[in-house]
Amino acid sequence: MRMSQMFAPTLREVPSEADIPSHQLMLRAGMVRKTVSGVYSYLHLGCRVVRKIEKIVREEMDRQGAQEVLMPAIQSADIWRETGRWDDYGSEMFRLKDRNGREMCLGPTHEEIITVTVRDEIRSYRQLPKILYQIQTKYRDEIRPRFGVMRSREFIMKDAYSFDRDNEGLDRSYEKMYEAYCRVFSRCGVDYRVVEADAGAIGGSQNHEFMVVSEVGEDALVFCDACGYAANVERAESAKPAERVADTEKVRTGIRKISTPGMRTIEEVTGYLKVEPRVLLKTLVYVADGTPVAAIVRGDRDLNEAKLKRVLCCRELELATPEVIERVSGAPVGFTGPVGLRERIKIVADWEATVVEDAVVGANAVDAHLVGAEYGVDYTADIVADIRNVVAGDACPRCGAELCGARGVEVGHLFKLGTKYSSALGAKYLDEGGVEHPIIMGCYGIGITRTVASVIEEHHDDDGIIWPMSVAPYQAVVMPLNTSESAQVEAAERIYSELCKHGVEAVMDDRDERPGVKFKDADLIGFPIRVIVGPKHLGDGEVEVSMRRDGTVELVKIENVAVRVKEIVDRELAALMPE
Ligand code: ATP
Ligand code: MG
Repeated sequence: MRMSQMFAPTLREVPSEADIPSHQLMLRAGMVRKTVSGVYSYLHLGCRVVRKIEKIVREEMDRQGAQEVLMPAIQSADIWRETGRWDDYGSEMFRLKDRNGREMCLGPTHEEIITVTVRDEIRSYRQLPKILYQIQTKYRDEIRPRFGVMRSREFIMKDAYSFDRDNEGLDRSYEKMYEAYCRVFSRCGVDYRVVEADAGAIGGSQNHEFMVVSEVGEDALVFCDACGYAANVERAESAKPAERVADTEKVRTGIRKISTPGMRTIEEVTGYLKVEPRVLLKTLVYVADGTPVAAIVRGDRDLNEAKLKRVLCCRELELATPEVIERVSGAPVGFTGPVGLRERIKIVADWEATVVEDAVVGANAVDAHLVGAEYGVDYTADIVADIRNVVAGDACPRCGAELCGARGVEVGHLFKLGTKYSSALGAKYLDEGGVEHPIIMGCYGIGITRTVASVIEEHHDDDGIIWPMSVAPYQAVVMPLNTSESAQVEAAERIYSELCKHGVEAVMDDRDERPGVKFKDADLIGFPIRVIVGPKHLGDGEVEVSMRRDGTVELVKIENVAVRVKEIVDRELAALMPE
């Protein structure tokens, strides 16, 4: 490819619309352009990177015996109604009607349609197991599309679905996908972690997320260096508390009511009483499937709504309005507490909250709190469970060591679905004895376009992108510094054509531009290898071969350049390839 011909409009300025490095660099390097909010066109370089990641994903899927298919983006509402997700999916789904008024959607995911396809074709245990996958465009009307292709409304996903006769089979399919994912992300050159995740709306039991560690990640993770436990904070379990947390300075006086006029926040109350926030218990009122419930956590903790939802086994959970709070507790927002509340509504207490001695709680009366409250004496709960967010510094739920924290971008997700979709859609098989069973399913996604951004997020500097060899749009650029010098042009042309012959993906920067411009673009686009043909060494028949990553330079004879560059390419690709 000749740079003079290439459709890669680079930008010198940082676009104001982009707040994170990958988004800025994808725009600046001419990889993508936005069409409307959350919808992007991939230009030549962006498209090449997407295709490379797709190729890696295909190779690893095929290696595990998965079979590629391609399903439509347009799906009928009928199958979504059968699983109940036409309503559940909410406004993230792009919905449309055909000319006859038939309701359709642009697929945000493909569990329904693949299950129906398999249902209609598979009859017998002999046809199982199967893992089917596709690489295809998904549509989700995200509330907040942001960070460029990290969270877009149209994006490319690899989605795979496994079909097994029993749970052991599912375990094997899951294991295969797990291995494929480890290999995919190693080959893409990213620092990833596998974490236990919350199952969310998709349902199912066990599931893991593949996270690229990054400051810009929207997910908070905790992990234990001692035993390897790693989880999304949405999901991470808190260690069961062993001992009581007491304010040692205080003499026990039993429960008593104190006046706290206008003090509604934790800071106001604990500041006034001169106690630690962890001694105050927050009582939060929620409405779970229409019924108010109270949830209690320590004042220094955050309630985890996903956990509370699981504990309550409810579908909808939202914070109660001030009117509801006042009706159930008898006091305005800020003064709700557990004492006496259980007669009116169900109480769920975080297990850590129940071991707080001499707790401060709302008095269920305006401008008042109770001090010296104790679980089991002054109040109880219907359910005591883990309902808070785990944070870095907490004890590991497995081994007790201190948990570390990080942020991550979710690039892949594995789910054990079980029979959720096969039961709803009637996908069954007959066993050896002619008995019918629902097929056991798993589903497995990789955000292809999000992976592109994650790679850049991890591999860049102030000047631009530093591609790992495996996903670079081109592996090398040949730069004659002065295109009016025929000796330079001739040498560069020879090198370029030999590189191509040796199978190196090369770009010839044949533009009549100043060296500064060429260097800037090469840095920005991030070609891993640069061959600089300049006056300094040409007299000796040599050129500079330099690495974008660390700027190391070696002098190589013109006739040896192609072999040497090919060697570097192969060495770097091999280094990224797992055993
Ligand atoms: P998130 O929590 O980030 O919204 P999700 O749980 O909705 O992700 P899945 O339904 O599991 O995502 O989709 C599989 C993969 O598709 C994700 O792991 C992610 O890499 C990618 N993905 C999901 N939503 C988007 C999006 N809006 N833009 C780009 N990639 C996405
Ligand atoms: Mg989502």
